[in-house]
Amino acid sequence: MTQTDGKTSREPLGTIVFDLDGVVYVDARAVPGAGTALSAIDEAGWHIVFATNNSTRTPATVLENIEVRTGFTSPTADVVTSAMAAASWASARHKRVFVVGEPGLVQTLEAADLEIVQDTTADCVVVGLDRGISYEKIDFASRLIRGGASFIATNTDATFPTQTGPAPGAGSIVSAIATASGVDPLACGKPHVPMLTLVREMLRGDSVWVIGDRPETDLAMARRAGWHAVLVMTGVTTASTEITPDHAPHHVLASIAELPSLLSE
Ligand SMILES: [Mg+2]
Repeated sequence: MTQTDGKTSREPLGTIVFDLDGVVYVDARAVPGAGTALSAIDEAGWHIVFATNNSTRTPATVLENIEVRTGFTSPTADVVTSAMAAASWASARHKRVFVVGEPGLVQTLEAADLEIVQDTTADCVVVGLDRGISYEKIDFASRLIRGGASFIATNTDATFPTQTGPAPGAGSIVSAIATASGVDPLACGKPHVPMLTLVREMLRGDSVWVIGDRPETDLAMARRAGWHAVLVMTGVTTASTEITPDHAPHHVLASIAELPSLLSE
């Protein structure tokens, strides 16, 4: 152990992978106690990774949003987004991208040295949540895919939680393009391999926990990787949600606020 700036630096106890929407916040409102819980976990010596299927923000914006909403900030916390997973996958295989998505996705693809194009020279189509979606975009993306461009989805979440209930997610837009093109996408977000690969690169210590609200993404990734799966009830899952055995959580908590005491057991 070494002392630096009055703090003890040491090998982390392990890594806690947090989903964001429905776990740390819902819309712009923090889950009560989220900031306090994150600070306690960080100070206890866990490495924190935020892993979100939201494709609309850059990693820097994700961290800013967490701080604005919960007050939590840490120089050691990492971020993985489905946009980063799509960029990593696409940049290893393609050069020119037609994007159906928002500015955060475009910036993340550009940061991975992909060229964003609006014409038929695209060799892949990357689709994420796009709240400016139009018939014309669905049409053009589908024509590119039918013409041989690869079809990459940041994620296939049908919805995301809001204060007024579920809103259409990237999966709703991906489905429209899959239907029109007759081609199934390669999905990059949780629980799929491109995202899992990026999360693995950020792990510290031996123990890994995943905290999520969505069984088929968060808990499926944890189960697939052999990590502890924790379900919180502040997002899309309710008491009546059916959970298949391969998505079953090891622990169910009312909210992230209960996590520090579970970890210290
Ligand atoms: Mg969620």
